Amino acid sequence: MAISPMMQQYLRIHEEYPDCLLLFRLGDFYELFFEDAKTASRELELTLTGKDCGLEERAPMCGVPFHSVNTYIEKLIARGYKVAICEQLEDPALAKGLVKRDVVRVMTAGTVTDPSMLEEKSNNFLMSVALETDGKRKEGAAGIAWADVSTGEFYVAEPPEAILRAEILRIGPTEIICSGTAALQECVGQLTEMTISEQNSNWFQAHNARETLKNHFGLSSLAGFGLEERKAALCAAGALMKYLGETQKNSLEHMTALRFARSGNKMLLDPNTRRNLELTESLRGKGRKGTLLSLLDKTHTAMGGRLLKSWVEAPLTERDEINRRLNAVEALVRNRMTGMSLAEELEGVYDMERLLSKISYRSLNARDCLALCASFRKIPGIRSLLSETECAELRKIRDQLDPMEDLTALLEHAIHPDAPMLITEGGIIRDGYSEVLDDYREAQKNGKQWILELEANERDATGIRNLRVQYNKVFGYYIEVTKSFLQQVPSRYIRKQTLTNAERYMTPELKEIEQKIIGAQEQSVRLELQIFSEIRDQIAGQIPRIQQTAEALKKLDVYQSLSRVASENAYVRPEMVTDGTLTITEGRHPVVEQSLRDNSFVPNDTLLDEDENRMMIITGPNMAGKSTYMRQVALICLMAQIGSFVPAREAKLPVCDRIFTRVGASDDLASGQSTFMVEMSETAYILRNATKDSLIILDEIGRGTSTFDGLSIAWAVVEYICDKEKIGAKTLFATHYHELSELEGHLDGIKNYCISVKEHGEDVIFMRKIMRGGADKSFGVHVARLAGIPHPVIVRAHEIQARLEVSDINQNTIGQNILGENNESRKNEQQDLFEYKKMEIIQELQELDVMALTPIDAMNRLFLLREKAKLV
Ligand code: ATP
Repeated sequence: MAISPMMQQYLRIHEEYPDCLLLFRLGDFYELFFEDAKTASRELELTLTGKDCGLEERAPMCGVPFHSVNTYIEKLIARGYKVAICEQLEDPALAKGLVKRDVVRVMTAGTVTDPSMLEEKSNNFLMSVALETDGKRKEGAAGIAWADVSTGEFYVAEPPEAILRAEILRIGPTEIICSGTAALQECVGQLTEMTISEQNSNWFQAHNARETLKNHFGLSSLAGFGLEERKAALCAAGALMKYLGETQKNSLEHMTALRFARSGNKMLLDPNTRRNLELTESLRGKGRKGTLLSLLDKTHTAMGGRLLKSWVEAPLTERDEINRRLNAVEALVRNRMTGMSLAEELEGVYDMERLLSKISYRSLNARDCLALCASFRKIPGIRSLLSETECAELRKIRDQLDPMEDLTALLEHAIHPDAPMLITEGGIIRDGYSEVLDDYREAQKNGKQWILELEANERDATGIRNLRVQYNKVFGYYIEVTKSFLQQVPSRYIRKQTLTNAERYMTPELKEIEQKIIGAQEQSVRLELQIFSEIRDQIAGQIPRIQQTAEALKKLDVYQSLSRVASENAYVRPEMVTDGTLTITEGRHPVVEQSLRDNSFVPNDTLLDEDENRMMIITGPNMAGKSTYMRQVALICLMAQIGSFVPAREAKLPVCDRIFTRVGASDDLASGQSTFMVEMSETAYILRNATKDSLIILDEIGRGTSTFDGLSIAWAVVEYICDKEKIGAKTLFATHYHELSELEGHLDGIKNYCISVKEHGEDVIFMRKIMRGGADKSFGVHVARLAGIPHPVIVRAHEIQARLEVSDINQNTIGQNILGENNESRKNEQQDLFEYKKMEIIQELQELDVMALTPIDAMNRLFLLREKAKLV
């Protein structure tokens, strides 16, 4: 038995895309066969059927309708599959023999462009990693390149291998390609949230990479990109471009630039710090709510939203650059009217970057053109709002804004304001734009008149009153006569179709009119398509101008967002100082203050310098506000380095090279690490990477082990960080080891602080004020009571606490002390429990609504109460 020609075609095409699920277009369906079909039917819950393919056994098959294919592709991609779309390249009705088919695009997680599969305010990056190997892997700089095909952004960098993992996690690509997955894993460990695949290692070779990039950018040298002397970066970028070429199968003309991302001027934020400070994802919900980003994001464009996110994820480390941003924000804070008007104008600007990517994919439709045009129309207004500004950064933005008068005029003149989504059905181009098109349209309009006249004439001539000329897609125009008038039908009528109640006819005259109308219609649709693609080409020719304008608009959007947040929340401009002294007066936690009503957040001061005040050891009861205070200091520094104003009355801040946080306890069971192990690994990371210019936040260290172990580790860590020869970083360290307060006076640079509380009878009042000095109590049991721990446990905890306070730790008698007077204590405990039970019974009796009880209910309740009483 021979395999059928269509199946041969399928297998031949699939051979070229062995790592993909091949969606094979058959009429109105995309079909999958063999193993692909089994996988898809399992993943998408599709029914598995079979198809005769010339072999003895039917080929397993499943399929999805073409109009809803995107939903299925989205699911497959989310599960890490690559999907190759194989289309019919000719009209099956016109094809002679087997319809030509080929793959038109490979869809992968990192190359999605469909807006329904993308988050508006997040980039979707594909990353390529080039490690220097030469057979054996060498330590050194790695080359990384990352691109978002939905916006056209394309970057390269050469981070040292030591920080490669952190860089990858910061950029957060959804897909990574490399020349060897084993080498990559050896270098950066497991990366669980991204699809990783190994590609042809030739693509990563310098000479091939150089050729690929030169071809794409149409350049004879890559010196302009600064890539000639950066081999690792070159290899990564070239391989990425090659992969895009292979998968996207279009010229990607919207990818016009390749930027070298210097790592020196950005702060590297490790994943722990980003998570602990809840910069873009909240600790609990993983969503944006309650994060710094959601607070700062008042952008009006998706482009601005994406830019702000990237700023939050990589704050600046160069003072001049920070001040440049702060100047722009300040200019808009001082002139709120301009800020507000800019916001209003920006509201009408669409996602120009993603619209441009549609040009490369030839999926730009007339509505997209209208969106571009509406965005262009906003530019003159925005420019004039910036005309008076004295801020150099805003002036630069204004000059970067191209008014786009030519394209606006073209689009306004050409595109019909009510144009449909589909570009194949006409109605896109406005009257008056093309004379030829107008003529065709006139013919269509006249045609309708001709039809009406013909209908009237035929009625007169035949005397058939209800004779009608109608149209449908199958038969075209016809004359319809109901059965009751059949005897009046003249012999020149040619019968086309018989219905139950009527007959349909054609006449030579009607045929002639029909040909004229349909001809004009077809011609006009064809012409519209041609005009539209010419317009699309004209826009494509201006991509760099549009991109430059989009770039300026998104920056402006971020500045207006930061200025609005600053004004609405009474933030101040931080002064970026060079003397290394950090002074915050009346600082607040930007997110916590939002969640408290009536301005009840208590502001606090901070002083950290390179001398006497390098480290604050913060003690204080549970729930006092230690974590909030420390995070607020970190967030204020971070916000300043993003270019934002800060929540304080005054802030003088040195530029931090890194911010580190170690907070709370969490275990990473997936990677086989216990809670304590995670705690220690995080501490080790900080001790190895912090410098004197870093800011370190330590919220408890050594809690996951025995008291002595923990205290010893915490003590040694404090000494190490404080030592100027070793680290000497500015540090905030919150701890319940009150013993650490002893260090003040013995170790240079340490100052004790505590967060005050007032005791009021059994209650504790949290003052939330930071003060000099150490605390001596933790009030943990009190907080446990607030949290709803059952009364007997609380009573017992108080009792043990009292015993511990008199124990001699050195004598190792703690346990015995708790257990020692066991009988006595158990007796007390029992008594407490009985008291508790009695109280329960009394309360139940008090609450009993006797009048509302039926006699039988009353009996039952009485019985239950007696049973309880027996236990007391
Ligand atoms: P623990 O030692 O139990 O971790 P903590 O001392 O770190 O406690 P936080 O988690 O910082 O305490 O604060 C507890 C709560 O107190 C916060 O959720 C917040 O609602 C409130 N809070 C903290 N600081 C302030 C402040 N300055 N003004 C008003 N409320 C505050």
